[in-house]
Amino acid sequence: MIDFRKIVENSDKYNFHSHTQFCDGRDVMENILLSALNHGFTDWGFSPHSPVPLQSPCNMSSDDIKPYFDEIERLRGIYGDKINIYRSLEIDYLDDWGPSNDYFQNMDLDYRIGSVHFIPSFEGEGYVDIDGSFDNFKPKMEKYFYNDIEGVVLSFYTQTLNMIEKGGFDIIGHFDKIGFNASMFCPGIDNQIWYKNLVRETFDAIMDHGYWIEINTKAYEKGGIFFPHQQFWNLLKKYDAPVLFNSDAHFPELINSGRDEAMAMFKEIKNIGETE
Ligand SMILES: [Zn+2]
Ligand SMILES: [Zn+2]
Repeated sequence: MIDFRKIVENSDKYNFHSHTQFCDGRDVMENILLSALNHGFTDWGFSPHSPVPLQSPCNMSSDDIKPYFDEIERLRGIYGDKINIYRSLEIDYLDDWGPSNDYFQNMDLDYRIGSVHFIPSFEGEGYVDIDGSFDNFKPKMEKYFYNDIEGVVLSFYTQTLNMIEKGGFDIIGHFDKIGFNASMFCPGIDNQIWYKNLVRETFDAIMDHGYWIEINTKAYEKGGIFFPHQQFWNLLKKYDAPVLFNSDAHFPELINSGRDEAMAMFKEIKNIGETE
C-alpha cells in the first residue's frame, strides 16, 4: 500500500479518487491526467467503479481490468517523471461482494477504496443504486423502498458498517453520501438525532479500524456540501482522523472542484467541541 501520510505531508495537490472511460467517467485517463498536470497535481489515483456481479452501467467490466492496468503502465511511461500515478478501484460492497473478497485482494492495486452505492431492495429483489442524482433516486423510493426514507438511511449505514467490519480497503469513500438524497427527500433528516447518531457510530467504527477518511468535494460546487457533511468535521478534527481531500471527478474540468474551499474550511475548524 502507498504511504498516504507521507504524500499528504509533502503535497496539497494529490487526489486518490477519480473516474474515467473505464466506468462512468466522461473522459479518457490521459485527458484526466493532463488536466491534473495542468493543475499542478503531484499525485494522482485512478479509481474506476469496480466490477460488480449485477447489471450496472456505471461499473467497469471485469474484462476491462487488464486494459485498465495496461493504460496505467502506458501513462506511467509517458508522465511518470512528472506525476505519481496510482492504480486503484472504488470497490462496491454488496454483502457477499466487496473489498475483502479474494478477487480484489489478489489484484495488484496500490490501494483500495471501499464505497456503498447499492442497498438491497426491501422486497429482496436484488440491489438498488441509491447513489445517483435525486431525480434518479426519487422514483426508486416508491418502487423499491415503500417511500421509507428512514429505512433507506438505516440500510445504507448498516451496509457501510458491515463493509467496515469486513475490511480489505484503505480509504472509505463518501461515508455519509446517503445524507444528500435523503435530505432532498426529507429536508432536515440529517439534523435529526438518530441520523447524527448513525454517522457518529459509523465514524467511530472507521476510526477503530484505522481507515483513511476522504473529504469528498464532488458535490460542493453544485450542492454546497461535502461528504462527510461539514457539520461532522468537528468529529474529524477532535479525533484527529486521517483525512484525504478527493474530488471524485468524472470530468477533467472538475478535478480540482471544491478542493481549495474544503481545505480552507477544514483548516478553520477549531480543534475543540463536537457537533452533537
Ligand atoms: Zn462513489
Ligand atoms: Zn467515485
